[in-house]
Amino acid sequence: MMASFVTIPSLLVLFRIDRELHEYQLALDALLKDQVALEAKIETIAADIAQQEAASLKLQAAIGAQDLDLKTRQAHIEKMRETLNSTKTNKEYSAILVQISADKAEVSKLEAAMLENMEKLEKDQAAIVVTRQQLTLQQGLLATAQGESEARAAELRGHIERLNALRSGDAAKVPTEALKQYDRLRLKYPGDAMAPVEFDDDDLENISCGGCFMALNMEDVNQLRGRDEIRRCNACNRILYLPETLAQEKIRTVEHRA
Ligand SMILES: [Zn+2]
Repeated sequence: MMASFVTIPSLLVLFRIDRELHEYQLALDALLKDQVALEAKIETIAADIAQQEAASLKLQAAIGAQDLDLKTRQAHIEKMRETLNSTKTNKEYSAILVQISADKAEVSKLEAAMLENMEKLEKDQAAIVVTRQQLTLQQGLLATAQGESEARAAELRGHIERLNALRSGDAAKVPTEALKQYDRLRLKYPGDAMAPVEFDDDDLENISCGGCFMALNMEDVNQLRGRDEIRRCNACNRILYLPETLAQEKIRTVEHRA
């Protein structure tokens, strides 16, 4: 009697393909996700480096300006020293000495500030080297991931393509209205639109939906055994099937495709 049924057996063929398709699609998504995460990390590190380098350039410019200032002041001190020899009075002489001493104090302040900046620059540049190493490391990881995922992604896409080709042939064998219902449910439950009616022939008091585990009853089993039509779980709405139908369908599919 069951062999003449079409609806659930033909849907089960699709369901099994869709379950596999869904797994391959998830694996493909996961692959791309890892890569996207690495790319984001690299972008952050590159932005850090750009910021560090800009700060470093600014500091170098500041040091350059300090150096120029220092040289100007030193030249000025030299000049004043030279004028010492040509002074006419003691008063003039000591006035120049006071000025030289003030300039020297300014020079040593500048030298201290410049030294501090140079030490900071050295530290900053060491930090840039470390960040660059991090960048190289992450870029290497990404290249490896891309290399690996390229092969794996091609493999997964190959499976998906093969299953989709298989699927379109099998979808044509499902009664139109049943296919419509199934396709709508497939959007809600990708790869999981059908659920087995779970029960033990020795314990028909405990019948449940294999999708949501809510209780079903003997009427569900009887209808699936007696009528060639769709029956859905009241709780989750999945299309129900009997494990025995799946078992028969598997055997038929293997015979058919062999
Ligand atoms: Zn259910």
